[in-house]
Amino acid sequence: HAKTHAPGTAACFAFEHENRMHRQAQVEQALRRADLAAEFHLLFQPIVDVVAGRVQAYEALARWNSPTLGSVSPVDFIVVAERTGLIHDLSLALLRKALAAMASWPEHVALSFNLSAYDLAAAEGIATITALIAESGIVPERIVFEVTETGLMRDLVDAGRSLGALRALGVGIALDDFGTGYSSLGYVHRLPISELKIDRSFVTDICSDAASRNIIHSILDLARNLRLLCVVEGVETEAQMLHLRAAGCRYMQGYLFQKPMPAAAIAAFEAGFALP
Ligand code: C2E
Ligand code: CA
Ligand code: CA
Ligand code: CA
Repeated sequence: HAKTHAPGTAACFAFEHENRMHRQAQVEQALRRADLAAEFHLLFQPIVDVVAGRVQAYEALARWNSPTLGSVSPVDFIVVAERTGLIHDLSLALLRKALAAMASWPEHVALSFNLSAYDLAAAEGIATITALIAESGIVPERIVFEVTETGLMRDLVDAGRSLGALRALGVGIALDDFGTGYSSLGYVHRLPISELKIDRSFVTDICSDAASRNIIHSILDLARNLRLLCVVEGVETEAQMLHLRAAGCRYMQGYLFQKPMPAAAIAAFEAGFALP
């Protein structure tokens, strides 16, 4: 479409917008018909404790293999699942799979599971999550729910109530993508959170850029002062890891350690694990 819709022109943006709408309509149609338990699965990515030199937790990351669309990114299907209300059933189907996978993990290893803000809006959703955890026999202290501030902003009161109910069970709550929202600092003390996950955009340039370094050091200080655990995500190089460790960061996640992998690969990964 180069000739009729030159890049950067209004026609081009309209064209791209139309494409995106068409894609979302396709995703919605396929999602409404999807067998959630059969078409979706989880990959797991380790969160490494660089002081103890072992895996602290695995973050569950959703994948969809649609019979009609092929593999669809969570970035594309989560928003559609939220808009259609299918997120509730999807989150529960995935949590069921994650808890089942944990049965073969070492006892000290935790699960980090992404919840949508929509999951926190309904009280019966929290009741179902609570029941699933109880049925699984997994101690709640081994579970951390990750939530993003962007979603929580819409309804801070309900979200706070739901997070409080989950915290009361003994699970951890992590504020995900920390630093990318509008008022991260405002939420830190208003919500019952136990961890911060620093967004990978702050990590990319820490070795070359003093400003990035200052920002990440300030966030690490903040987490320490508030007695929150802190995970830095998107660690891709050994230089980044060494720098972050020297700055007092203990928990890290990223391609340097391991890309997301199937549940069946975890036993071998645990057996062969060593810090890079
Ligand atoms: P997120 O929660 O911030 O997850 C981290 C994303 O960064 C994952 O992408 C992961 O594969 C990727 N990543 C991990 N390490 C590195 C690294 O070193 N470098 C780079 N460049 N990327 C890295 P993924 O799996 O595509 O997930 C994208 C987003 O979709 C997640 O971002 C999360 O917001 C959402 N998502 C994924 N699974 C679920 C789920 O089960 N439920 C909900 N509600 N959202 C989910
Ligand atoms: Ca996450
Ligand atoms: Ca994140
Ligand atoms: Ca993210």
